Amino acid sequence: MDDIRGRVALVTGASRGIGRDIAMALAAAGARVIVNYRVSADKADEVVRAVAAAGGTALALQADVSDPAAATALVRATETHFGSLDIVVNNAGIVEKKPLEELGPADWERTLRVNLSSAFYVTQAALAGMRARRWGRIILLSSVAAQHGGVVGPHYAASKAGVIGLAHSYASLLAKEGITANTISPALIETDMVRNNPAATPTLIPVGRFGRTDEVAAVAVLLASNGYITGQTINVNGGWYMS
Ligand code: NDP
Repeated sequence: MDDIRGRVALVTGASRGIGRDIAMALAAAGARVIVNYRVSADKADEVVRAVAAAGGTALALQADVSDPAAATALVRATETHFGSLDIVVNNAGIVEKKPLEELGPADWERTLRVNLSSAFYVTQAALAGMRARRWGRIILLSSVAAQHGGVVGPHYAASKAGVIGLAHSYASLLAKEGITANTISPALIETDMVRNNPAATPTLIPVGRFGRTDEVAAVAVLLASNGYITGQTINVNGGWYMS
């Protein structure tokens, strides 16, 4: 396994939920971590303090990663602050739950922009440095929604299916350059996203409970440390979808 001590990781949407625990776990494994957030500055600062209290190194950076200029600026700020960017975790995401008949183009476009386009913007900006150093890890958060529809809607499921296609292309194009690309496909992990969605109940899950954020974060550390897993979707879903 590759030692990720000293590597630089950017986790988008790391102020809360799954992203928070991925940032904490990568820092515990020795990576220096950028804790990206959109509006939750206090929560992002709290993550940075928690990383420091555990002996790690982290910095909070605000950016709306659905804006291509802001996503690129975030990557450049990471490289300026820590000197490189080795591990990108495209975690930022939104759920906008509405009755099916009320979904319109604005919902579609916003969800695709935040959940899918952001991963393309951030990854594209990070690629030059990874390719020059011939080492990189691209990790994307998909969802069980990409596999069986899920409990949000077609806009969300399509955005999460797109993430898998993005990973497959990066994985095949970059395999010879020391760069891997994989998706983590969770369901239903107990975060604000799930707590705010009444359609998400533990009775849907074969193991009979919601998942924990640390159970997803451990997979991100595995993918960051392993150079032979690429182009894969790792399911963390309590058996809801079996592959
Ligand atoms: P949360 O709602 O708990 O947290 C979302 C995070 O994303 C926050 O840190 C938020 O920042 C950030 N964020 C949202 N929009 C943007 C943006 N435009 N730019 C930068 N950051 C942004 O979500 P989860 O932790 O539950 O989900 C994390 C990822 O996992 C998402 O991609 C989600 O789709 C996916 N996922 C989650 C599942 C679950 O069961 N929880 C299941 C399947 C997939 P801020 O605090 O500043 O708003």
